Amino acid sequence: MTSPAPAHREALRRALGPERVREAVALAPFTTFRIGGPADLFYEATDAGELARAILAAREIGLPHFLLGLGANILIGDRGFRGLVIRNRAQALDVDSQERTIRAESGAVVWPDLIETAISHGLSGLEHYPGIPSTVGGALWQNLHFLAPAPARERTMFIAEVTEAVEILTEEGERRTVGAGYFEFGYDTSILHHRRDVVLAATFRLTSEEPEVLRRIVRENLEWRRERHPPLDSEPSAGSIFKKIEGIGAGRLIDQCGLKGTRIGGAMVTPRHANIFINAGNATAADVRALIAHVQEVVERRTGYSLEPEISFVGEF
Ligand SMILES: Cc1cc2nc3c(=O)[nH]c(=O)nc-3n(C[C@H](O)[C@H](O)[C@H](O)COP(=O)(O)OP(=O)(O)OC[C@H]3O[C@@H](n4cnc5c(N)ncnc54)[C@H](O)[C@@H]3O)c2cc1C
Repeated sequence: MTSPAPAHREALRRALGPERVREAVALAPFTTFRIGGPADLFYEATDAGELARAILAAREIGLPHFLLGLGANILIGDRGFRGLVIRNRAQALDVDSQERTIRAESGAVVWPDLIETAISHGLSGLEHYPGIPSTVGGALWQNLHFLAPAPARERTMFIAEVTEAVEILTEEGERRTVGAGYFEFGYDTSILHHRRDVVLAATFRLTSEEPEVLRRIVRENLEWRRERHPPLDSEPSAGSIFKKIEGIGAGRLIDQCGLKGTRIGGAMVTPRHANIFINAGNATAADVRALIAHVQEVVERRTGYSLEPEISFVGEF
């Protein structure tokens, strides 16, 4: 990939405002792994209209572009991204208490913003996802899910279950509203993995519940996570590295092979959870990729299972 031509840079500045398009912006601080080189061009969309305009402008110019949420499910290459990174900060939330719905722009942060708003209005359905870093757009991309711990709720809950309507900018450039069925949600997947549609906003249909009950569920879920997961602020990660292997568990295989604590450069399989790699200090994307390859090789040789990365690789490595 080559850097955008001066004419492309100028066209983008004209479309989005000269002072809003920044150059050579380091991406590491915008990811939960704290890893990644610079974007040639960088733009922050502050509402759904700006987001649609930025995507359309990049498409029209023919500029490679990437839409960034909280950067919690990606690894950005050390050489960064040749083209435009659009950081989604479209965060408006609208509650309709009578209808028991919340419309959230796609850059709204699920925890705490969306969940706290739902709880303060006595609305249930989102309290299963506290502590998970995600925008609404990222949540729909991957069908955000959580295996709720309490006995009465011991099953995997999916964001698809409360998703009613979604405003999208289609691959063809049309703005329309679709139902949840359009997304073909599955485990860790949706139609967004196959079509270049962009989520602009989503409406969640919730049910009534006492805020105290919801806060208790949030507390239980956070406690469950705290016991099992490395804390993001001191041990940056991208959550689970490999896809689930039904009935077996990628983490269990890695653990069986004695790989917890394995380190390459600054990247480490955390001793706390075998399927989570952390940035243990100045890790590069190359370190993480080398660790992924090493773990895949050992697990395949010893168990016969091949591990497939769950995270996406973005930009140049
Ligand atoms: C500590 C930790 C714990 C985690 N625990 C869980 C968990 O329990 N359950 C779970 O499901 N996940 C978990 N994850 C993974 C991650 O939180 C989710 O995948 C989350 O939904 C990613 O959202 P994001 O906004 O960061 O997306 P990003 O990582 O920024 O982007 C991911 C993909 O979504 C695309 N995308 C983002 N916004 C849009 C949009 N508006 N329209 C179209 N495409 C878009 C991006 O282009 C990219 O391809 C965890 C991650 C971490 C770091």
